[in-house]
Amino acid sequence: MQFKKVIANSSVKLRLAAQVNENRVSHAQLFDEKEGSGGLALALAYAQYINCLNPSENDSCGVCSSCIKLEKLQHPDLHLVFPTATTKEISKNPSSSKFYSEWIGAVLANPYLSLQSWVTLLEVDNKQVAINIIDSQEVLSKLSLRAYEAKKKIILIWLPEKMNTTTSNKLLKILEEPDPQTVFLMVCQDSDNLLPTILSRVQIIKVPTPSATEIAEGLTQNFAVENGVAKSLSLMCAGDINKAIELAGGNEEEDFYITNFQNWMRFCYTANVIEISNWVDAIATVGRERQKNIAEYGLRFFRECLVHNFGSGLNNLHEKETQFLYKFSPFIHGGNIILLTEAFEDLHNQITRNANPKITFMNLSLNISKMLKLKAEV
Ligand SMILES: [Zn+2]
Repeated sequence: MQFKKVIANSSVKLRLAAQVNENRVSHAQLFDEKEGSGGLALALAYAQYINCLNPSENDSCGVCSSCIKLEKLQHPDLHLVFPTATTKEISKNPSSSKFYSEWIGAVLANPYLSLQSWVTLLEVDNKQVAINIIDSQEVLSKLSLRAYEAKKKIILIWLPEKMNTTTSNKLLKILEEPDPQTVFLMVCQDSDNLLPTILSRVQIIKVPTPSATEIAEGLTQNFAVENGVAKSLSLMCAGDINKAIELAGGNEEEDFYITNFQNWMRFCYTANVIEISNWVDAIATVGRERQKNIAEYGLRFFRECLVHNFGSGLNNLHEKETQFLYKFSPFIHGGNIILLTEAFEDLHNQITRNANPKITFMNLSLNISKMLKLKAEV
């Protein structure tokens, strides 16, 4: 894609273009972003600019043979690495190359793809995605080949924080012996989870959250969203481009969390064991990524309740959430907020550590029932 079509902070686009023009393209760069800031789209536009045969001062031409192949993510010198998991079709040794067409399809449809959307698309149950050792072996074999036609071979790693230690160490060895014909671009949303030795070998490009104006303009220009709507979406999405796009198109995934959390809290409040147990059975099948998201959603919602109780205005909430919040927030107070927060953080940790989801959600539900009955501290 061209820089002009990317929704992202505009100063970072200019800085990236300047690096190419001043011949300062470092062999390994890490786009460090908060989810939804457009890091992947930026990295793709940067790869295209590096290899464009007829670039302008700040952008690729979009029409040369290199641009055309990179626009389709089908360039022989572009190698893509991303997290995968075993699925019904690929029952062992998952790697990026086995999911290439799915990932390319997803990114072409939405270059602001979130990990959650990718996991949902893979239909992975109760497994966590990772970048596996086979991926680094495949990168090594790519490096042994000369660039077919590009100025620079590009190895793009989406979410390197999903590499396990073995994969990271292998990659580290590769980064230690840079190949002048190759540029590594990594798009990272959680750099705390990268080995410090990897961080020390890459140039870090901080990708700032785009401004509401940048998001609104991008929605109007690239997604044909009407001006006024784009403006309000850009304010609602809190800097998350993917969220803005989802809101523009209606969003099933977000509805999933809203509905499930609200039902869960109702069943816990009424301490209806049969309904709790049915709900737990259902949530046990939705996969660990979604289960972790439920925990994160809960933590966020409890905070919104507190903010509301303190009389502050409501930010970034859906209408469906606002209605529920008015009814639910009186039950969230100083007498239980710490307990609830700790319990939901613990839920997140347990799911991450592969705890049995049925047991974990059931125990927590019974505890929530008690916590919601606690009196507010006077
Ligand atoms: Zn071009």
